[in-house]
Amino acid sequence: MSHTISVLLIDDDEDDCQLTRIALESIEASNYRLDCVSDYDGGLTAMTRGEHDVYLVDYHLGPDSGVELTRQAIALGCAKPIIILTGQGDHEVDLAAMSAGASAYLVKGCIGAEALERTIRYAMERSNILAELRQNESALRRQASTDILTGVSNRRHLEERLQEEVALAHRHGYPFSLCMCDIDHFKLINDTHGHLAGDFILKTFGELLTAEIRLEDVPGRPRAQGEASRYGGDEFCIMFPHTPAAQAFGAISRLRAAIAGFPFIYAKKVIRFTISAGIADLSPDATLTDIMAAADCALYEAKALGRNRVMVTGREACDVPA
Ligand code: GH3
Ligand code: MG
Repeated sequence: MSHTISVLLIDDDEDDCQLTRIALESIEASNYRLDCVSDYDGGLTAMTRGEHDVYLVDYHLGPDSGVELTRQAIALGCAKPIIILTGQGDHEVDLAAMSAGASAYLVKGCIGAEALERTIRYAMERSNILAELRQNESALRRQASTDILTGVSNRRHLEERLQEEVALAHRHGYPFSLCMCDIDHFKLINDTHGHLAGDFILKTFGELLTAEIRLEDVPGRPRAQGEASRYGGDEFCIMFPHTPAAQAFGAISRLRAAIAGFPFIYAKKVIRFTISAGIADLSPDATLTDIMAAADCALYEAKALGRNRVMVTGREACDVPA
């Protein structure tokens, strides 16, 4: 016999509970364990916990509605199949059950053990397929927004997030800064050590960048939490919501200093590299294009001044190697 299927019946009628128990016990194909609760609140608590394999919900629960219970349980995260039971067949009830998210609808007087078993089996199978689809969908969504080499988010995702965050910063008037960051002479790393070594450096840089901008508050160190994306090639973009450029400058300067001259090892060879970065604040009337152009301009300036440095647009601030 297959594993035990746990069923919770939410019904205020003792006799119906007994009849359902008898019907389930007579099913030979599977082993059922039936629990019963008689009221809306008890049912909702159990359905939200989701410890049963399937829920049978009476359409009339005293003064409460089984359809409403179904709707609320699903809204609170119940992902298990729910089957509505009713005393009389009614097309309206059928439609209401379906739109509340029930997997099926059964008329009590007409349910034989065979039909009950089949309905439970179909509902469970449908619910498993839906759960798998949901999992696949969220994995696909993650994949579509992630840069496959570095694991940081990709440009498409960045553009969506930037639109949202710039709009929020304007609406609520909080500071927002943006950093464009680029590996110096990256082409030379590829040409000297090969593209796999170049890939290793991109991946390592993505990891170091992510670690730096995820730092929590440290006493004496201003907080600068951001989201990094690979903008393209060896260029990365970091947005810092709730953060003025001066704080972002601190985080990116620390990263620049940590990377500069560090002996990264790939295939037993030492590879050293440096980065340049440009940072801009979002001014009150600036668009997303404006702040991106400003950060890009600061990056260009950092490159032009000799690389391995961090520049902030419109300020004297410049982090230069010692
Ligand atoms: P600069 O200091 O001015 O930034 O010079 P650079 O050499 O870093 O810049 P350039 O734009 O000339 O070269 C970037 C190189 O990055 C060229 C391209 O072949 C390489 N590249 C782009 N994507 C990848 C990748 O995914 N892997 C590897 N290994 N190389 C890549
Ligand atoms: Mg470069």
